[in-house]
Amino acid sequence: MSRKRIVVLGGGTGGTMTANRLRRRFDADEAEIHVVDRDDRHVYQPGLLFVPFGLARVEEIVRPRRRQLRNGVVFHENEVESVWVERDEVLLDDGTVLPYDVLVIATGVRLQPEETDGLTGPGWNERAFTFYSPEGAAQLQRALEGFEGGRLVVNLVDMPIKCPVAPLEFAFLADWYLRERGIRHRTELVYSTPLDAAFTKPIASEHLAGLLSEREIELVTEFNAGEVDGAGGKLVSYDGRELDFDLLVTVPLHGGAPYVERSPGLGDALGFVPTDRRTLQTPVKPNVFALGDATDLPTSKAGSVTHFEAEVLTENVARYFAGAELDAGYDGHANCFIETGFHKALLIDFNYETEPLPGRFPTAFGLPLLRESRLNHLGKLMFQWVYWHALLPGREIPGLGPAMPMRGKKQTPIHA
Ligand SMILES: Cc1cc2nc3c(=O)[nH]c(=O)nc-3n(C[C@H](O)[C@H](O)[C@H](O)COP(=O)(O)OP(=O)(O)OC[C@H]3O[C@@H](n4cnc5c(N)ncnc54)[C@H](O)[C@@H]3O)c2cc1C
Repeated sequence: MSRKRIVVLGGGTGGTMTANRLRRRFDADEAEIHVVDRDDRHVYQPGLLFVPFGLARVEEIVRPRRRQLRNGVVFHENEVESVWVERDEVLLDDGTVLPYDVLVIATGVRLQPEETDGLTGPGWNERAFTFYSPEGAAQLQRALEGFEGGRLVVNLVDMPIKCPVAPLEFAFLADWYLRERGIRHRTELVYSTPLDAAFTKPIASEHLAGLLSEREIELVTEFNAGEVDGAGGKLVSYDGRELDFDLLVTVPLHGGAPYVERSPGLGDALGFVPTDRRTLQTPVKPNVFALGDATDLPTSKAGSVTHFEAEVLTENVARYFAGAELDAGYDGHANCFIETGFHKALLIDFNYETEPLPGRFPTAFGLPLLRESRLNHLGKLMFQWVYWHALLPGREIPGLGPAMPMRGKKQTPIHA
């Protein structure tokens, strides 16, 4: 084939994995590969959960982006201004125009705390925090250290959010942390969500609601936060319900990257990119693919999802160049460790059609599913090493692939 140019927008989890996989797949004389990201700080985002509790420091979970990319991948430290789909070109903030044969969109989500009335007003980063950014997580760590009890409300404003289990994990870890500090009896812990249950999937929700109640964490459902009075310590829902807080830990609204909205035809009303749920090709043009949090796919916005998608997407870029039929092999597979405090974690594994089932993963001899265990907690901690050394470089991991394994699963769900 003649030498092709592949441009990857975003050098986070999905962009880095995809660029490295493509680099392994194509020789330098077959394809040149470009990655664009606005900065050179690659954050291991699952680590943000541990920062507020002093279990990780921001410096330990950030590495230079450039160093995660294989030799022969060209890195542009630029903001993407827009995509000209008609002309197969990307415009960068310094005026550079990057033409492409294939475009891969991996620009994730944008946090939008300013979209909730009052949230970024008085009290922001003093009494109301988010751990979804490195800066927010570090500020929350200082606030928790000085917290002496009161009402701690964990709230997610609206779906979709990345890692939908992360606010639940925060609530469980907060319970553990406050008990360790001997101030749990002086603290009311509240978990408020716009969902009608603890989580999006019914069987897992039942387990998680059981755990919340065991830990004496109040669950408030169908709470659509509309307004925050940070100074007065009040969270108000659209239907007029109020939740008082001394400390608010919020997961703000998520939207797609602003350039998606500026690029005609590329995204939907929220700035997410419509994407084929099985091939990861976008309907805007056959040479545009997308993966990770930037898509509109009905699965979790999670690193595991992004990893499974990257395998199918890489294959499909090769098939696109070869003029072959695309692989419809992505089944919505998602896999999440849920930290529950006291050195334990749950594991859930699901796809578009099958909700989390009990059993073991990936085979009958693997990690327990939907059950708290120390092994899962160790798996969660070990994952950081796997992320930097196997996932990002684009290495194959036995047992972890785009198709959800059914071998260790119990087909008749057991309720909590
Ligand atoms: C607190 C927290 C805990 C999490 N825990 C887990 C977990 O336990 N397990 C799990 O699987 N997932 C977890 N996740 C989710 C996981 O981190 C994301 O789903 C994953 O990183 C998505 O990859 P991505 O490539 O789509 O987006 P990102 O990795 O976010 O990358 C997007 C990149 O695009 C860049 N970008 C955006 N717009 C532009 C622009 N206009 N110009 C240039 N660059 C741009 C950004 O700088 C960024 O580097 C967690 C996330 C958070 C916040």
